[in-house]
Amino acid sequence: MVGRLLSIGECMVELMQAEGDLLRKGYAGDTFNTAYYARLFLPKNWSVDYLTAVGTDTVSDEMLAFIEKTGVGTGHIRRVEGRSPGLYMIHLKDGERSFSYWRSVSAAKTLADDADHLRAAIEASDIIVFSGITLAILAPSAVETLLSELRRAKAAGKRVVFDPNIRPRLWNDKATMLDTISAGARASSLVMPSFDDEAAHFGDADIAATIARYRALGVENIVVKDGAYGVTLSFGGKAPEFVPSAKVEKIVDTTSAGDSFNGAFLAHHAIDGDPVAAAGFAAATAASVIQHHGALVPKEKLERGV
Ligand code: ADP
Repeated sequence: MVGRLLSIGECMVELMQAEGDLLRKGYAGDTFNTAYYARLFLPKNWSVDYLTAVGTDTVSDEMLAFIEKTGVGTGHIRRVEGRSPGLYMIHLKDGERSFSYWRSVSAAKTLADDADHLRAAIEASDIIVFSGITLAILAPSAVETLLSELRRAKAAGKRVVFDPNIRPRLWNDKATMLDTISAGARASSLVMPSFDDEAAHFGDADIAATIARYRALGVENIVVKDGAYGVTLSFGGKAPEFVPSAKVEKIVDTTSAGDSFNGAFLAHHAIDGDPVAAAGFAAATAASVIQHHGALVPKEKLERGV
């Protein structure tokens, strides 16, 4: 099967401490990371595209060049005069990471401002990926524009994939956060939440409660991730199945564990059709990713293992 995957969201400039006051520049963001891993594992006759908005400045040019270099397509990325990409800085102190963000005026906040552009990109795709972070950065009217296009895609039989990726600091209030995440799920055919987030914010008592809540919203397929334990799959109304995580002796950097799981799962499932086999492959991929530094681990390193 040949197909087209589109991931929608915000890719940011990442500044990481290199040596003393020297900073190293990179680019990352949950939905872009997922696109990166999907691109690594999908065959060449599949296209993987990213949809966001960037500015017309030099750092926007550099970000697009970086995305292109990973093999992810930039043809659906809008340019917005006078804006720049969002930026975050990783601080390392005694092995612990903390983050500062500059994203309040980021260009990506306008990614859903042009409904025709959005519709054309979605109509040209078979699998569409977005997240709770995608929704969190948008104004309420832009959330509605995006979700109405995604509902249309779901109704047309496309695979609409949502990772709730709940980040309370990106939302003004809890009720809006939970309502909007639920609306995102309703527009989707596959939801891939992390259980610890769902328990903390929706108050789910166990994984079965998370599955039941998303089923009640009309989501047909659910993959609940639970860190070192494993994932529970509920596909097409069949009895839930559990796939354990791979054993990791020494975790180096958990950045992108969930995103790499999502990208590897979607690639494998698109080709092979079996969600259990896809979850096994994705667990092995995520286990390898967390044994390396950074969000975007090169394929050679993943294949070499630790
Ligand atoms: P997120 O990064 O979104 O919070 P999780 O922590 O649930 O997501 O992790 C996503 C996936 O990464 C898990 O389903 C698992 O495959 C893998 N993973 C995460 N932590 C570990 C770990 N300690 N050991 C092995 N695999 C892990």
